[in-house]
Amino acid sequence: MLEVEGLGIRFGGNHAVQNVTANIKPGKITAIIGPNGAGKSTFFNLISGFYQPTTGRIRFQGQDITRLPTHDVVARGIARTFQTTTIYKELTVLENAMIGHRVRTRAGLWDALLKTGREKRDGGGSRDGGMAALERVGLAPQANLLAGALTQEGQKRVGIAMALSSDPKLLLLDEPAAGMNPEETVNLMALIRELVVGGLTVALVEHKMSLVMGLADEILVMHHGQKIAEGTPAQVSRDPAVIEAYLGS
Ligand code: ADP
Ligand code: MG
Repeated sequence: MLEVEGLGIRFGGNHAVQNVTANIKPGKITAIIGPNGAGKSTFFNLISGFYQPTTGRIRFQGQDITRLPTHDVVARGIARTFQTTTIYKELTVLENAMIGHRVRTRAGLWDALLKTGREKRDGGGSRDGGMAALERVGLAPQANLLAGALTQEGQKRVGIAMALSSDPKLLLLDEPAAGMNPEETVNLMALIRELVVGGLTVALVEHKMSLVMGLADEILVMHHGQKIAEGTPAQVSRDPAVIEAYLGS
């Protein structure tokens, strides 16, 4: 579904991502793991068009998307969440989902903020798109609550709904379980599995290897900007290079 070849980016002399080749398969959960600073978030920033790569190519569903701006990448069917929550706490859960829909389908954030209030009253495509996304993450009953009133887990779900509101084929989640307790984490994993059963392809970044062992179909391990291993959870967890990277971190 997503083919990455020789992907790299440098910040000054720092090779944040270097010569990464990867293949994300449709209908699967792929985890990108590695110690802090390994280049995982940067890898997502490259795929989603937030950063322009210095080297390499990215193909999505057979088409080159290497230097497309973010809104074009979204329009092709790739959406993402961010490592730090980026929801609007003063707006309702539904308004957040609607902003996600607008930002991802139209001109930009300001347009989205201005028009969302009016559409919420008058109906329209963004409202339907927003509600559909909330249903997928189990937040439809909370649609009219302020997003800031939700738990940490609820706010994470709002972030996922914002991404889902563009109806992506591939969803990129950057450390979705960060800050969650074990029970919330289990719930989140169940949600991710449900989304995949519903036809979505998911790639997620996580620095704790244990969290993705029971979830991922495929794991890609990064260290110092490079891919050091890939395979099933069983394969990577006994890979000497992976064990060393984690022990040394
Ligand atoms: P991870 O998500 O695996 O913890 P990151 O992708 O955030 O790691 O960071 C990888 C490396 O790239 C780090 O050394 C980080 O400081 C550097 N980096 C990331 N983004 C930038 C940026 N915009 N400018 C300069 N350096 C950056
Ligand atoms: Mg990161």
